[in-house]
Amino acid sequence: MLRVTVIGRDYLSRDMKKNNICPKCNATAIIPDVTVWDYDASSNRPLSLTVPLPKPPGAFIYKGSETGHLRAWVCGECGYTELYTPQFAALWDAYQKSQQA
Ligand SMILES: [Zn+2]
Repeated sequence: MLRVTVIGRDYLSRDMKKNNICPKCNATAIIPDVTVWDYDASSNRPLSLTVPLPKPPGAFIYKGSETGHLRAWVCGECGYTELYTPQFAALWDAYQKSQQA
């Protein structure tokens, strides 16, 4: 149990976004903040993820979901890639609301 905790802290301290160091090969050749594209047969758009929001009781118009776009940090030596969602706080808030419904 303690071993798992120590490994988890070590992994978090080697966050590519914060340190610009690859956690797999220790390279500093990091490509930051890359747009991850999606293609829907007619256009390109940033790849996104969505958390549905519950409909408030009695609501006529409501925002049905919260959306975040994926951003990537890519190692230029080994290709290891980490994905981040800048809208994480809004997604977490939507997730918590969905769990209360
Ligand atoms: Zn690497």
